Amino acid sequence: MEPDTCSAKGCSAPASWQLQWNNPKLHTPDRRKVWLACDVHRSTLSDFLGARGFLKDVVPHEPGPTPT
Ligand SMILES: [Zn+2]
Repeated sequence: MEPDTCSAKGCSAPASWQLQWNNPKLHTPDRRKVWLACDVHRSTLSDFLGARGFLKDVVPHEPGPTPT
């Protein structure tokens, strides 16, 4: 299984955060897109989404299989 890495451009650090977002122009309100972020990029990515009003939630990302 390959490790989950940060979604920031050029970053290959392991992700420790999930940024859950939704673009109301593209997605139904209950839909969640997920970006993964390392500690360094959590703030830059969440600022990016927050500035557009897309950011819904930031939760810790547990490595390994996630129970559904
Ligand atoms: Zn990163």
